[in-house]
Amino acid sequence: MRMKIGDEIIKLKQKIDEAKYICLVSHIHPDGDSIGSLLGLGLALESINKKVAMLKIDDIPYKYRFLPGISKIKSYGENEKFDLLIILDCSDLDRLGSFKYIIDKAKYIVNIDHHISNTNYGDINIINHEASATGELVYNILKCLNLYIDKEIATCLYVAIATDTGSFRYDNTHSETHYIASKLLEKQIDLKRITFEVFQNKKLASTKLFIEALNTLNLYYDDKLAVVQVTQQMLKRNNAEFNDIDGIVEYIRDIETVEVACILKEIEKNEVKVGLRSKRYVNVADIAKVFQGGGHIRASGCTIYSNITEAKELLVKEIGFYIR
Ligand code: 5GP
Ligand code: MN
Repeated sequence: MRMKIGDEIIKLKQKIDEAKYICLVSHIHPDGDSIGSLLGLGLALESINKKVAMLKIDDIPYKYRFLPGISKIKSYGENEKFDLLIILDCSDLDRLGSFKYIIDKAKYIVNIDHHISNTNYGDINIINHEASATGELVYNILKCLNLYIDKEIATCLYVAIATDTGSFRYDNTHSETHYIASKLLEKQIDLKRITFEVFQNKKLASTKLFIEALNTLNLYYDDKLAVVQVTQQMLKRNNAEFNDIDGIVEYIRDIETVEVACILKEIEKNEVKVGLRSKRYVNVADIAKVFQGGGHIRASGCTIYSNITEAKELLVKEIGFYIR
């Protein structure tokens, strides 16, 4: 499934050649793939002397702050003018949150993504939902554009792929994924450091919150649906943030009987962020879409604007239609 140099890549090359100032942005609540693919592409464009703005639209989770060039992801004034806007790992423009306004200022938009629910909002759309991570697409794009991948870029792309595949365990992992990971490892990246920083560096507060959240576990439909919730009160009690509860929805999916796992995070009284995961047959992107969200077949999300108890009832009922 190696990427071919098709029309989109030729157009992209032309646009990059023409552009003097390129802005890169990814989604709110950033994860390893959004940060890693943005940095990987940003550093590569800088290496060919492009002026690049890597736009910060949200806080960077603690575990990604070791990434090379991370301080280059920063805020810019609303009046900054770019020739080209490249949006990474965003299935739709709502994923830019309050930074959606940037679209109106963009002369030309490149959309690079691997979500099945991508809405093709770009002037150029490089979408492949079979790619495990946007980082995989960026790797292929850099190859097609003949841009050199150094150790720093390789580190960013490796983190993008390792996090979006659950360390190469999820069924979005293909031989291509391992091929690219192998090529990145050839760049002598520091795997020990990556493992430590990304996976073995949890704060104690985060583990305490994890325990409390696990205690809210409810099971439905013959234990095929598992639901946990995190309220603002729980965050305060444990002196923790939402970024600290990474991994819990995957943890409850691992229960033998579970097909769908769901986490509800109370953002405020009438706003709940939902994360969905499935194991074998349920397409959770379809479920998220019912609530104007999106994502992948096995991992998706949405926001429900009601209180957490109502949101949970709505979700449990909806998910019931998909479980057999
Ligand atoms: P997570 O639960 O880790 O936040 O998200 C899982 C997947 O669902 C990610 O691929 C993410 O991009 C997607 N996702 C999460 N929330 C939303 C949302 O509100 N809208 C859309 N379109 N996708 C989402
Ligand atoms: Mn991704």
